[in-house]
Amino acid sequence: MTGLSDSFQRPIDYLRISVTDRCNLRCVYCMPAEGINLLRHEDILSYEEIYQVAAAAAELGIKKVRITGGEPLVRIGLSRLVQMLAKIDTIDDIALTTNGTLLAKYAEELKTAGLRRVNISLDTFEADKFKQITRGGNLDDVLAGIEAASAAGLNPIKINVVAMAGINDDELLDFARKTVENSWHVRFIEHMPFNREMAASSFVSINELRERLAVLGELEPCTFKGNGPAKYYRLPQANGTIGFITPISDHFCFHCNRLRLTADGKLRPCLLSERETDLRQPLRNGISAEELKKLIKKAVDSKPRQHKLARGCVPQDRPFSQVGG
Ligand code: SAM
Ligand code: SF4
Repeated sequence: MTGLSDSFQRPIDYLRISVTDRCNLRCVYCMPAEGINLLRHEDILSYEEIYQVAAAAAELGIKKVRITGGEPLVRIGLSRLVQMLAKIDTIDDIALTTNGTLLAKYAEELKTAGLRRVNISLDTFEADKFKQITRGGNLDDVLAGIEAASAAGLNPIKINVVAMAGINDDELLDFARKTVENSWHVRFIEHMPFNREMAASSFVSINELRERLAVLGELEPCTFKGNGPAKYYRLPQANGTIGFITPISDHFCFHCNRLRLTADGKLRPCLLSERETDLRQPLRNGISAEELKKLIKKAVDSKPRQHKLARGCVPQDRPFSQVGG
């Protein structure tokens, strides 16, 4: 097999880069109310260090990168990083996952820098509920961000919705209708139990959601551009799609093609395992590109076969916002 593959022969061609652990929201499923212990500025990889890792990973076979966080747009000068990554010839897709609150300000400049697409997280259309879920956010900022991303040509825009029973499942049909009325690509994500108490009471399986969507018509399976684990469907007359991401009820580890770089420079081969390989110290000690590639390969070799969420094993070492979702 050419390119990068792990010890279970899974091709690894996708790198998720967390550029910060900071965020301007405090979503109930992601962060504790009091926030988290933030990394020190000097512990965070510089854009030049991130570029070094991405360039070495690209030589090994990484073709797609996604920038995430925390909230990536709170880090100053993110377009400069996008511009640097866009110069790596063999990387053919640069995408961003964001809460959308700052997109109206940055969409145009990100597009010019070389960003291709955005995923925007939005769990409700109700302003008060949005404030509760995000602990203080303003819904209009996100809606303006979605418009700006679309106007800037950051397409296709995908909307990530964490499905929560008793919190936003009453808006399921409203989100689904957006795939017909506004050609949105909406993805429902099962709630992963980082906040255990909340997850236990609000978990709703994607199968249940699918059954509830049947009132809008038959969901036709379809293919849709993406690097990830979502399974896509289309409602009759919809230009947009409905995706389902099922980390718990139907995990997708056997097709996982991902590697993650944390903001403080650890390569993490699985979101849901505490295994990490430190790259920051070697980078700061002046590691050569060849040695860096060896470390990346070592991290890929340590990728676990599958996560153990269904058995209740949740990593305790870092909050979700630090690993990049
Ligand atoms: N701040 C950005 C955002 O919200 O899109 C990027 C980072 S966030 C950690 C990445 C994704 O993880 C978001 O789509 C968010 O909804 C999702 N996420 C966070 N906590 C989650 C959880 N407990 N279960 C499922 N998805 C979660
Ligand atoms: Fe921030 Fe994104 Fe986590 Fe919400 S999901 S707290 S926006 S990092």
